[in-house]
Amino acid sequence: MSNWQGQTYKADCLSPKETWDIFDSTKVKAFQECPRRFFYNYVLGWSKEEGNIHLDFGGAFHEGMEVIVKALKSGRPHDDILAEACIAFDRFFDRVYPNEALHSDFSPKDPKHAYMAYETYLEHYIDEDITCLHTELPGVVAVSPDHHIHFKMDGVGEAGDGHPSYHGVVALEHKTGSRNSLVWREGWHLALQPTVYTHALNCLYGIENVDYVVINGVFLYKDKIGLERVPVKKNLEQMREWIWEIQHTFHVIDHNMEALTQADTGEPFLRCFPKNTGACTDWGRICPYADFCMAGKNPLHFADEPPYGFHEKHWNPQKEHENAKETLVVEEGKAEIVVSGVQADNG
Ligand code: SF4
Repeated sequence: MSNWQGQTYKADCLSPKETWDIFDSTKVKAFQECPRRFFYNYVLGWSKEEGNIHLDFGGAFHEGMEVIVKALKSGRPHDDILAEACIAFDRFFDRVYPNEALHSDFSPKDPKHAYMAYETYLEHYIDEDITCLHTELPGVVAVSPDHHIHFKMDGVGEAGDGHPSYHGVVALEHKTGSRNSLVWREGWHLALQPTVYTHALNCLYGIENVDYVVINGVFLYKDKIGLERVPVKKNLEQMREWIWEIQHTFHVIDHNMEALTQADTGEPFLRCFPKNTGACTDWGRICPYADFCMAGKNPLHFADEPPYGFHEKHWNPQKEHENAKETLVVEEGKAEIVVSGVQADNG
């Protein structure tokens, strides 16, 4: 069962949204961390009104990285690539933060550090033996007959014989951060996102041809840039186990969504999407919904509209496909690249 948009709900304050049936790895991970946080963030769609410099900087940074990844092995002069990457960054960042005088307030997540990062990355990696196959590739992969996960891969390439570390197809996933740590590095090996990418790449290219999903870390310090790559690889047994686990997670999500159809504002507490109070201070921050949980009320009592300081916004990862030149679609283990609505390649 996954069509929650078409259901009727006992509670008048709930109006089904098309995004309730659409998932990406961020959304699935949010449910795994705390079902009640998932409820606030993705069912009600409530998030803090203030902007998020980490997300905005990450979005702008990806624009420049796309220029660089496309230029791998192109032979273009470094200065040309660097200039184009900086322009791509500025185009995105200036649109969100038009007042240039305030940019340095966000340091190190500011244009100066982005330019430094591109320069350092180019010096380090531009001549590596990887041929770019795709950049910013959105897609959707079936994990059961009823459930799909959407994604967008930053880069897919093929390592040549001369590469010292990789062989075959690799995906690059760019991440920016302010601290390189053992926790950061080790966490990727069990993370959902690289496993979703591995599943999609295995279906497209064959498991024997897929090497790593490489977490391409760029760390922004006050006066320098750090680079760190974490290559994540999964074997067939690990992928089989993951399919079982992700189907189990969707089964639990469906169970909670089903219970929500019967939830009533008159009840003293909400009998679905239970709190995971072990997640309230994840990443050293207080959860934005902590005040609601501490109030101890049924959230449906105050779900008519977002409380002061919050707005309602329903993230739809499917929208990433709309303007894409190509999309990777995986159904029943069979993959195809669809180019502007035309099937181009079979796996
Ligand atoms: S405060 Fe804790 S229990 Fe409540 S939504 Fe946030 S993480 Fe979950």
